[in-house]
Amino acid sequence: MEVQTCSKCGRLFNWVGIGPRLCPVCKDQEEDIFKKVKEYLWDHKGATMPEVIENCGATEKQIKQWLREQRIEFAKGSGVTVDCERCGKPILSGKMCNECKKKMEEELKALSSGEELPVRKKVRDRDRMRFLNE
Ligand SMILES: [Zn+2]
Ligand SMILES: [Zn+2]
Repeated sequence: MEVQTCSKCGRLFNWVGIGPRLCPVCKDQEEDIFKKVKEYLWDHKGATMPEVIENCGATEKQIKQWLREQRIEFAKGSGVTVDCERCGKPILSGKMCNECKKKMEEELKALSSGEELPVRKKVRDRDRMRFLNE
């Protein structure tokens, strides 16, 4: 436990060390909104971002984060996507597109077997840096 300031309301609270820096009150509020968004998307297939923001009281930032965490997903036709962290291609949710995920797996495999792939070395080094910085 460590005392942190809530990133939303500024109140001091005991932070457990994981998850967003939100006090219990703001966290509850966020969970409520999240439930609303999830239900709304369930009932309204093809809902768009402004629609969800207006009807559920969520912010675009929150929604994008939930998409990254793969907690929610918009329908294909809604046009709501996040960018693949590697190639920037729009994806429905998560961090990487399927191709990049596959490439990453191959690279990790090559890495653990000690095999050198000179063409991809540069990309790999960049990714490794990013992991270290995270
Ligand atoms: Zn708070
Ligand atoms: Zn990609």
